[in-house]
Amino acid sequence: MLCYCYLCNEYSGLQYFCEDCTKIRRYIQLFKKRPIQILDRILSRPEDKQHSKELIEIKKDIQEKEENLQASLNEYPNKDQVLQELKKRIQKN
Ligand SMILES: [Zn+2]
Repeated sequence: MLCYCYLCNEYSGLQYFCEDCTKIRRYIQLFKKRPIQILDRILSRPEDKQHSKELIEIKKDIQEKEENLQASLNEYPNKDQVLQELKKRIQKN
């Protein structure tokens, strides 16, 4: 029997959800509200402004990770050196 995705109505083989919607479900399970917040913030904008908003979201994620890293590095004596090296690696990418 052919199945169509419960979410987007695309053909999904023998699954309730297609491959893309399965991936979306997995992101929601892992990150809770964050995927929806990102989609709301980016897709509700005109297409030409979406790219810059994506960059802002990526920078926000990097900043949040840096802050978390900084908090976890407070226990180590050479934390400043480690943090500088990580920042250089991030800037290269
Ligand atoms: Zn789907």
